[in-house]
Amino acid sequence: MAESSDTPAAPRPLGAGTLGVRGATLRTPWREHSPAIFATSSFVFDSAEQAAAVFAEREAGYVYSRFTNPTVEAFEKRLAVMEGAEAGIGTASGMSAILVLCMALLSEGDHVVASRTLFGSTISLFENILSRFGLCFSYVDPCDLDAWREAVTPSTRMLFVESPTNPLCEVVDIAGLAEIARAADARLVVDNCFLTPVFQQPIALGAHLVMHSATKYLDGQGRCVGGAIVGDQETVGGTLFRFMRTCGPSMSPFNAWSFLKGLETLQVRMEAHETRARQVAEALVAEDAVRHVYYPGLPDHPQHALASRQQGGFGGIVSFDLVDQAAAWRFIDRLQLASITANLGDTRTTVTHPASTTHLRIGPEARARAGIGDGLVRIAVGLEDAADLVDDIRGALR
Ligand SMILES: *Cc1c(COP(=O)(O)O)cnc(C)c1O
Repeated sequence: MAESSDTPAAPRPLGAGTLGVRGATLRTPWREHSPAIFATSSFVFDSAEQAAAVFAEREAGYVYSRFTNPTVEAFEKRLAVMEGAEAGIGTASGMSAILVLCMALLSEGDHVVASRTLFGSTISLFENILSRFGLCFSYVDPCDLDAWREAVTPSTRMLFVESPTNPLCEVVDIAGLAEIARAADARLVVDNCFLTPVFQQPIALGAHLVMHSATKYLDGQGRCVGGAIVGDQETVGGTLFRFMRTCGPSMSPFNAWSFLKGLETLQVRMEAHETRARQVAEALVAEDAVRHVYYPGLPDHPQHALASRQQGGFGGIVSFDLVDQAAAWRFIDRLQLASITANLGDTRTTVTHPASTTHLRIGPEARARAGIGDGLVRIAVGLEDAADLVDDIRGALR
């Protein structure tokens, strides 16, 4: 059993880099320095009496890795500390984190107000799966607080948002949304995938729950699929934990170990992604073929002031418009250093054409409403040298 789960004492709140390396360190009596992987499905008891006590939750102890595993717990606790949350749970994927949130916290007839610019599978989960179980969803312009307010009904129990949005990097006023959620007695859930706790802490801004696709920046190296939810002890440590225990969309210990190691380098990676993304954005602005660049770090971004206030950094995703789909595809095919793949948050720069891939299924009308044109290209800037990335982009544009 874990011997300790401590964050070092400090005279002032520790930074994201320190917490990523040393927050909530779990260590066994073997005194391992780097975290161990507990590849075991179950845990043994000294006696029948002790087994009964642990099962009845009268005594703390690991039981079965569907819901208690020291490696998964180490990841959950460290992410929770980094997000400023009381508790966390790991899940099998980012999508299963959203599934868990909705299934565990909502019931038939409940209503969710969501941003209309969400990760494609999130909309599919809401529309094609959860709506069959009596949940109702409305979609609004994420930047229009009045639209959120007007969409709330007496049955609204959850507000769901990503900020910045994918792929246009619109920035949503999280504190403003948190107020609307509180007035409606609903929970605000923020998908914090794009910025991670290094650049954004939604709970400090008033959000109730934060979810992650750990697959992205938390792993950061394109290795494993996983997800997480953090929030208050009663909801996450109680309701969601019991849901995980019964339903089991659990994170594997190996993946948890990969994500835990990812957290150790999260701050330096996020800063490096951002440095490169800024240089890519600035280089794109200077190109004649580029009609518009979407990056919250640019002074002419419509929510630049909000992003500067709300975020500790602008992140690693840059999108831009070329004249049409043919120009976008030609650009993508000419790049030498970017992988044509849907993942993001990887060491390797990735490039996508949203209109024909990630946002194909939402249809042309929804794309037009969301401002996703046929010439739009999204780059998730990796950790290659900025000068090499900029050369590659310039070469592909000319
Ligand atoms: C990838 C992603 C998800 C889904 O996560 P998976 O780990 O792929 O299941 C959810 N939200 C956002 C913003 C994502 O980028």
